[in-house]
Amino acid sequence: MSDIEIPESHPRYQSLLTRHRIEAGVEKGITSRQGLIAQGRGEAFDYLLGEQTIPSADEAARAAAAHLLLAEHPVISVNGNVAALCPEETVELANAADADIEVNLFNRTDERMQAIVDHLREHGADEVKGLTADGRIPGINHERAKVDADGIGSADVVVVPLEDGDRAEALGEMEKVEIVVDLNPMSRSAQVASVPIVDNIIRAVPNMTEHVRELQDATREELEAIVGDFDADEALDAAEQAIRSGGDE
Ligand code: ATP
Ligand code: MG
Repeated sequence: MSDIEIPESHPRYQSLLTRHRIEAGVEKGITSRQGLIAQGRGEAFDYLLGEQTIPSADEAARAAAAHLLLAEHPVISVNGNVAALCPEETVELANAADADIEVNLFNRTDERMQAIVDHLREHGADEVKGLTADGRIPGINHERAKVDADGIGSADVVVVPLEDGDRAEALGEMEKVEIVVDLNPMSRSAQVASVPIVDNIIRAVPNMTEHVRELQDATREELEAIVGDFDADEALDAAEQAIRSGGDE
């Protein structure tokens, strides 16, 4: 996956590396071909944001970290794009926040589920949920509703990077705190999130981990204040503004 010959000095190094990882993910059977299209969409927005973490996205990542530390049962949902782009970083976030990892696919096949579970284990995950699939998200069709009852099914806080709008909406209706990572502030997933992080997953996940570590010793009151001060609509407006002005909020 990392045997790639792009000089780090290349001005679009990160973007090319990201494409290469997605391509390798498809070859390895962990990313669907539709995942390539999703990546293309994301890249377009990242380009408009100046391929950087804008201040409002950093604030959102901090609020997300506070939610994770307050949670009883936080779960990080992983799909084929997330697994291809940042498997190690996802495991690190799960460890720092004491969260479960659950593989959850829009286009679910047993082969791809297993390939992603194996891939995450190769990158340091101990337990990976998602294969049991004995729970359901109400309100969406059967295949796409499958979750583990003791994973996403009973989570109070879920991190859903690059989630499709329907499922994001249904999860939101289950009264879970939903942290969405999505580069498009206008996508339905971002719009229905309790905490939308408008940033590239490859930057947002390590950034959340950093915030979790920084807030590790904060009191409940301090964490609740961070959560209370965060305004999702403001964050989405700031991101839209940044897109319109080429990266400045
Ligand atoms: P909906 O409006 O229902 O949410 P959608 O357009 O978001 O639909 P998809 O194309 O399935 O539907 O979703 C992919 C989403 O993931 C896009 O919004 C895209 O911006 C985002 N995305 C893709 N790659 C990344 C990435 N590397 N980091 C963050 N977000 C990404
Ligand atoms: Mg979306």
